[in-house]
Amino acid sequence: MASSNITIQCWKCGTTLRNLLLPFSRYEECSTCNADLHACISCKYYAPNLADSCSEDRAESVQDNEKANFCDFFKVSPKACGKKDEATATAAKASLAELFGEETEPVAKA
Ligand SMILES: [Zn+2]
Repeated sequence: MASSNITIQCWKCGTTLRNLLLPFSRYEECSTCNADLHACISCKYYAPNLADSCSEDRAESVQDNEKANFCDFFKVSPKACGKKDEATATAAKASLAELFGEETEPVAKA
């Protein structure tokens, strides 16, 4: 009998999630960060470069790619982690550093 479970990496925190049951539940979430796993970003059809972020034409457009969706075409991508554009991540880091003034020494609190 074919195995009906899957091991994936959380798209958000990268935690390895073992033995998740297929078909994937809409309520499936990461045990570490509680990210929704039945979400576009964790789907193999997710295509951030497309207008509706989906390479499956027949799928309905989903507003929030990081929230659980009701898409009938959802197919989990086992390695969704790090799918977000590297450049975006770097830019986000840079703006965070700016926000927290990373160039200054941390102020020691008494
Ligand atoms: Zn996670």
